[in-house]
Amino acid sequence: MTNGIEMQTTATKCDGVFTTHPFAAGDTVLVGRIEKRLLKNHSHASQIGEHECAFHAGLISKFNHSCDPNCGIRLNVYGGHDFVAMQDIDANTEVTFDYAMRNYQIEHFPGNCTCGAKKCRGSITGWQDLPQARKDDYVDFVAPYLLAIDAKTKTSKQLETAHT
Ligand SMILES: [Zn+2]
Repeated sequence: MTNGIEMQTTATKCDGVFTTHPFAAGDTVLVGRIEKRLLKNHSHASQIGEHECAFHAGLISKFNHSCDPNCGIRLNVYGGHDFVAMQDIDANTEVTFDYAMRNYQIEHFPGNCTCGAKKCRGSITGWQDLPQARKDDYVDFVAPYLLAIDAKTKTSKQLETAHT
């Protein structure tokens, strides 16, 4: 399950997950397996559906957030999150994803983002707070329930406008 990646401690950040061999764009870097479903979100848990959260097994909670990540999310047949390379990734590179790719709202990461990316948006926000252009960049790499919530919100806004 964890072929090709390992946890490392870096000087600048705390733990992170690094590649031990290269991955090509589109490769599955990690297969997500759900350990425990939860009723409420938690700092090491993730949203897995519109009203569901879970802890994933293995290294998933050790992946750091980046506002310009090299991995994205794909929901697998078990309902867990696979991590998929958005671009070619060299060996010995930190693997990151954007926490907004699977969480509609982020409540557990107050304060500033320290990802260091040029495109850093300053704080770790959820999907609902991403600019539309960023959502478009991520569209093939986000959990589908986020797109479903967006679609629903849009429809209800249209209905509201129609009634006023
Ligand atoms: Zn950032």
